[in-house]
Order: sequence, then structure tokens, then C-alpha cells
Amino acid sequence: MKFQVVETVQAMRDAARQCRINAGPLGLVPTMGALHEGHGALVRQSAGECGTTVVSVFVNPTQFNDPEDLRLYPRNLESDLELCERWGADIVFVPSVEEMYPDEPLTGVEVRGITEHLCGAFRPGHFRGVATVVAKLFNIVQPDRAYFGQKDAQQLAVIRQMVRDLNFPVEVRSVPTVREADGLAMSSRNSRLSPQHRSLAPRLFQALRAVADLAAAGERDAAQLRQRGIALLDHENIKVEYFEVVHADTLQPAGRLDRDVLIAAAIWLGGVRLIDNILLSGSS
Ligand code: AMP
Repeated sequence: MKFQVVETVQAMRDAARQCRINAGPLGLVPTMGALHEGHGALVRQSAGECGTTVVSVFVNPTQFNDPEDLRLYPRNLESDLELCERWGADIVFVPSVEEMYPDEPLTGVEVRGITEHLCGAFRPGHFRGVATVVAKLFNIVQPDRAYFGQKDAQQLAVIRQMVRDLNFPVEVRSVPTVREADGLAMSSRNSRLSPQHRSLAPRLFQALRAVADLAAAGERDAAQLRQRGIALLDHENIKVEYFEVVHADTLQPAGRLDRDVLIAAAIWLGGVRLIDNILLSGSS
């Protein structure tokens, strides 16, 4: 199939309908563009498993709680299209804001509980924006499978919950975090780091790893692990927004590590916010 770029909801619906008839299962990879190898892993997995792969590139304004973050969010459509084609995508859906939100929407998808902690506690409205735009994309593209990165573990949990609660006929697939050689999780926002902040950025994953190692060595007290993580990130140029140990299923704070937990953190380096996490099985 010839690589296509589609800009309107109607053209996307028409193209997806044709592909579902002609090419079997359809995979969707929702993104905000400024694509990197992390996105590449999602697209390649979809291309390997589905007859058609659709990548959406849409910087969704409703999930930004900070207008400055929206304004500065990196955009690079030309390179995004080249990468999508190289990774094996068939269709790139690039709607404008007006196309996605022609009128002020009065409807939204709110996922409670799992959004109370971690990023949800610091980014009011963020996950409502995410869940709502993903629900719209699911209705427009009607994919059989949708691919999300483990890097955004809370987002993945929100989408899984929404799919269960609202009976979306979509299989949600998660893809492990792709990292730079020094461990930093790839992120579109990394390009905004100053050289000095870039050199500090790997400390986030190092701290998560050190805490995961402590847990693997037998430390079962989440408060101890949390304290250790915060101490490891103590630096005049790093602001820790949160460092939490939560149950992997509910994303509620853990007391003791008696089942699977997610160790997750968010830090600020200058004006750039970075997140990362490690999933730990209860038996490790
Ligand atoms: P974004 O464009 O940042 O909204 O991300 C789009 C999708 O790519 C989300 O499902 C992310 O979790 C996923 N993603 C972003 N960075 C990475 C990474 N380093 N490794 C794996 N998946 C990622």
C-alpha cells in the first residue's frame, strides 16, 4: 500500500475502512510528533503485527496543563513523515486542532482512581485530555490494536481502564521503554534540555535502577525506597516533583512490597519535565 498522509477526520475514516477490508487488522500508534526511536519501537511493532499501521501526529492542546509547555512543544512534521515511512507505517493522520475540536467540546472521558497520584496529582486535567483524545482517535480510526509506551505507565493504565470501562473493541499493547545509551528514556522533550541539564538527565533512571536494586536485595519498605530515591536525586539543578512506589494495578501508594509495584518519578531540569519508571514484580 502506498504511504498516505491524511488530514481530515472523514478522509481518515474512509482510508481506515478500506484498509480494514483489504489488509486485515489495523494498528494505531497515537503520538504528539517530534518522533524518535521510542515511537519507532511502537510503529515497528504495529507494522510487524498488523496489516495496516496508522500513526497519528497531533499535539493535543487539551492535555497540556501548562500553556508554555504547549507553546514550546517540539514540532517537526517533515522528519516525522520520513521516519513513519521508514518504520513501516502506512498512513499518518495529521489533523489540525480545528479538525479535532471544531467546537468547544462538552464531553470528556474522566478516569478516576488511578489518576489520583503520580503525574495525575501534578497535572490537573492532563489525563482527561489524554483519555478524551484517545477515545476520539479510537472512534475515528477504529483500530483493532493500539500501541502505547511503558515509559508513560500511568497513561497506559488510564487507556487500559478506559477500554475496559467503555468496551472499546481495541486490544491495547504496551511496548518497553527505549533508552539512550546512557539510560535516559527517549522523549520529545529531551531536545529542549540544555547541555548541562542533558548531562544530569541520566540520573533519573540511575536513581530508579538503584532503588529497584535495593528492592531486589530485600528492602520491602516503600517509604525507605522512596527516601533513597529522593536522596539520590538531590542536586541543586534537579527538582524532584515526585518519587513514588505504587501498586502496579491500582497506582495507589504502596506500604510494603508484597505484590507488583511501579517505581515512578518526575523531575524538572530547568524548564523541562522528565518522567520515567521501572516495574517490579512482587517476587523479585
Ligand atoms: P508522545 O508523542 O510523547 O505522546 O508519545 C507517544 C507514544 O510513544 C506514547 O505511547 C508513549 O508512551 C510512547 N513513547 C514515548 N517515548 C517512548 C520511549 N522512550 N520508549 C517507548 N515508548 C515511548
